[in-house]
Amino acid sequence: MAYLNLTPDTSRVPSPMADPAQKVPENVAGRYYVDATCIDCDLCRETAPGNFTRKDTRGYSFVHRQPSTPAEEAACLAALEECPVEAIGVDGGR
Ligand code: SF4
Repeated sequence: MAYLNLTPDTSRVPSPMADPAQKVPENVAGRYYVDATCIDCDLCRETAPGNFTRKDTRGYSFVHRQPSTPAEEAACLAALEECPVEAIGVDGGR
């Protein structure tokens, strides 16, 4: 008798977390970064315009300045939490 294997195979599911190994090269050094999964939706640039900007020739966002105030930190964290494809990471080092 055959049985169905109902255990989901998660080995091929992409990680929902931003990947520091896939940072786009324009990010400035520091904790926050955008990885290569960015879909250029503009949300982070609206939420934290002092920290995120667009690479016009490539069509994605990157971190052009790390947050330096509590307000900027809050805006960057909001952008991270709202990014629809989780392309923003905060584990990029200091
Ligand atoms: S919110 Fe995410 S997907 Fe949208 S532009 Fe920013 S990094 Fe890219």
